[in-house]
Parts: sequence; structure tokens; C-alpha cells
Amino acid sequence: MGLKNSYLINLLETVKKRNRGESEFIQAVTEVIETLEPVIERRPDFVKAGVLERLVEPERQIIFRVPWVDDNGNVQVNRGFRVQYNSAIGPYKGGLRLHPSVYLGIIKFLGFEQVFKNSLTTLPMGGGKGGSDFDPKGKSDGEIMRFCQSFMTELYRHIGPDCDVPAGDIGTGAREIGYMFGQYKRLANEFTGVLTGKGIAFGGSLARTEATGYGLCYFTREMLKANGKSFEGSTVVISGSGNVAIYAAQKATEMGAKVVSLSDSNGYIYDSNGIDIELVKQLKEVERKRIKEYVITHPDAVYTEGCSGIWTIPCDIALPCATQNEIDRASAEILVKNGCFAVSEGANMPSTPEAIEVYLKNGILYGPAKAANAGGVAVSGLEMSQNSARLSWTFQEVDNRLNDIMVGIFKSCDAAAKEYGMEGNYMAGANIAGFLRVAEAMKAQGCV
Ligand code: NDP
Repeated sequence: MGLKNSYLINLLETVKKRNRGESEFIQAVTEVIETLEPVIERRPDFVKAGVLERLVEPERQIIFRVPWVDDNGNVQVNRGFRVQYNSAIGPYKGGLRLHPSVYLGIIKFLGFEQVFKNSLTTLPMGGGKGGSDFDPKGKSDGEIMRFCQSFMTELYRHIGPDCDVPAGDIGTGAREIGYMFGQYKRLANEFTGVLTGKGIAFGGSLARTEATGYGLCYFTREMLKANGKSFEGSTVVISGSGNVAIYAAQKATEMGAKVVSLSDSNGYIYDSNGIDIELVKQLKEVERKRIKEYVITHPDAVYTEGCSGIWTIPCDIALPCATQNEIDRASAEILVKNGCFAVSEGANMPSTPEAIEVYLKNGILYGPAKAANAGGVAVSGLEMSQNSARLSWTFQEVDNRLNDIMVGIFKSCDAAAKEYGMEGNYMAGANIAGFLRVAEAMKAQGCV
């Protein structure tokens, strides 16, 4: 894209020098800074208040040892992280990722993105993120529990319902949140809403499990509608087969689309009849099996090893719901060639900058992660409200609020893009709308 503003160019240089080797963090910051150029030119007061210099530096970064004992009696050591990124508009809020690829740069990029996403929901939540390089795959329940307890034994002193409220992410689902909540309760001797995504029996919100996937479809529906398109009768490719992918597939199907593909980190399935979502839920949520098992009971479907081939399947709408940088320039070009008209992101930063350039150049409707996948944290915010009020709302009530929030997010992205002369560029709209609320709060609170 190329920045012209020398203040922003220098700022970005400093970010690159100060965060060497953290490519995902630098990528996320670069995208935001580039789209904020017109805002900064209009708002010298933000420059004077040093808002951006403060925004590119997390408020606090905690790194800790997580020792635990495996089933063979051997001591294992992982590294735990919590980045409390920004608390200008509320307590730190964001998930915990358990995946062997986790290092500080990934947690910082996720925390940075979370600040803008949480702002877009309009709920009072600051941004944070955490996790560990622990790999839950292939571990027994006992090992998962011992890891989660050890992780929380350090984390509990840094979090709290009015300070920092973690949630799930890759590798952290209801089981892990349950073990972490139990350990927090034991250590703090308090039953509070310190984590979201909890079991329904102990303070979880109905519709939290579905929220990110459903929210993605609500946002995408609005984006399609504003451009004379819809899910009805469309063919959809979704990557991943975890929490976000499963419920995106379910909602897109309910909205009249045919979802033909899902994946995991080993490969992807293609089912021209439309994915059997109940089977996927059974395989992934109950039996914790690999996606390739799908073809055992659906011999018409095809399983292919490797991830990136999924984007060669012809589709109208692509919903990447697995991980960062899963669509590169080459995959984006194939999507365009095959007639895809919309890409909407369930995963965080699944498109490389080069892929985004391809979408924008070719008029593909592009729903950026910060906006499109904000439904999960939005319902986490609603879980916090229910916990504070000692109430629980019905599924329908939560789902209605989620829908309203996603409609509102689309409207504010659309409006901000128009106001700053970039109509239809929802990435710029999301960055600007998310930024403005945080920036006003940071300026009002002084140099802290
Ligand atoms: P899950 O752990 O439930 O599922 C992740 C899915 O993505 C799995 O199918 C996994 O395959 C696949 N995957 C993970 N890492 C890779 C990789 N490096 N390469 C290829 N495939 C991979 O996670 P979620 O569904 O919760 O999260 C998916 C994405 O959505 C993440 O980017 C997350 O940050 C984002 N997100 C999640 C929210 C939530 O509420 N859960 C909220 C907002 C965003 P495998 O099983 O083989 O690892």
C-alpha cells in the first residue's frame, strides 16, 4: 500500500526495530497503521497525545514457566504468556491459545488485534491475549488437566473479573476453560466470572460456543446484502474444523448456502453434497478425531492431504476459520479465478497482506477478522454481564444481541470507510472505527 506520512513511516520503523523477529506482530501493526493515515492527518490531537506510540506497545507482558508431569511420570516444561495489551476502554479481554507454534510475537499480534475488535463490539472490554506452546493434541485428559492447573497457578495472580478476563482460542475449548476455572476458584477462593466460555452449569453463557461462527455469518450476511448478494444458493468453502469453523458451517447452511469443505492441519475434505455438520461435531467435539475420518462414513466425499489446496475448490464465498496467514497471494488469485466474490475471516489474520491486495484489486468483498469474528468476544462480554448480574439469559436472547452487535459492527465499518473516502474497504473501516473509540479514551485518560 505504501505510507506517505513521515510520522507514520518513522513510527513503523521503530516498531520493526523494537520487535525484531516478531513477524506476525509487525504484520498486524503495519496493516493498521497504513489504514490510519487519513485519520492521523485529520486528528493532530492524537499525534500530540502520543496515542499511536502508546498503542503499538503492550501495557504489560507476562512470561512464565509452566511445569507439569505427564502420564509417564516425566516432568514437562512449557512457556506461558499473557499480554495485557490495552485497558483504555475496559478490563483486558481475549483468549488463551494452546498450540506448539505459540511464541511472544503471536500473542502480541493477537492482543493488538483484540484491542480494535473489542472496541468494535461497543462493549466495555480492553484487549489482551495469552497462551502457551503446549500442544493439547494426543494428550490424555489427566495431562490436559495438570497442564491447565499449572498454567493457572501462575496466571491467577495477574487476572480477575475487573482486571483481565481470559477465554478460549485455538486448543482451548470448554474442557480447558473448565480446568482453569476450577484451579482459579481454588487459588483465589472466589467464584467470579474470571474466564468466559465456561460450562453452562457454572456461569457460562448460552450461545457462547456458537458465537464466533454465527457472528461471522451475521456480519457476512450484512456485507453481502449491502452489495446485492446473499448466502442463499451460494457455495462456501470453510477452512478449519474447530469451534469457529463448525458453527460458521452450521449457520451458513441455515442461511441457504452449501458448505462443501472443511479442514484441519493435516488436510481437507470435499463433499459436493454439502458437509454433514452433525457428523463433524461428533468427530471433532466428542471423539476428538481427525477430519479425514469423515470419508469413512461418507465415501462420496474426498479427503486430500495438505492445507492450502482447499482454496482451489471453486466457491462463491470463502470463510477461512483455521489460523493466521493461511491464504497467500497464490491462493487468493485462485479464489478470484474461480469466481469467488467474498472472503470473510473467522480466523485471526488468515490472509497475508499480499492476499488482501489481491482481494481489494479484484473487487472481492473482504470482511476483515477484527470485525467479522468479533462475535465470540461479544458474547464473552455478554457472559461477563450475566455473571456480574448473577443472571442467565436464554439462547434466543443472547443470539439476538449477538446479531444486533454484528449488524452494528458492519454499519460502523461501512460508515467509517465512507467517511474517510474508502467506500467498500471494510478493512480500513474496521481499523478506523475500532481505533477511534480507543484513541479518544486514551487521550482523555492522559499519558498513562
Ligand atoms: P480450534 O482449536 O477449535 O480449531 C482450530 C482449527 O484450525 C482446527 O481445525 C485446527 O486443526 C486448525 N488449525 C489450527 N492451527 C492450524 C495451522 N497452523 N495450520 C492449519 N490448520 C490449523 O480453534 P478455534 O476454532 O477457536 O479458532 C480458529 C481461529 O479463529 C483462530 O485463528 C482463532 O484465533 C480465531 N478466533 C476464535 C474465536 C473463538 O471464539 N474460539 C474468536 C475469534 C477468533 P488441527 O486440529 O489439526 O490443529
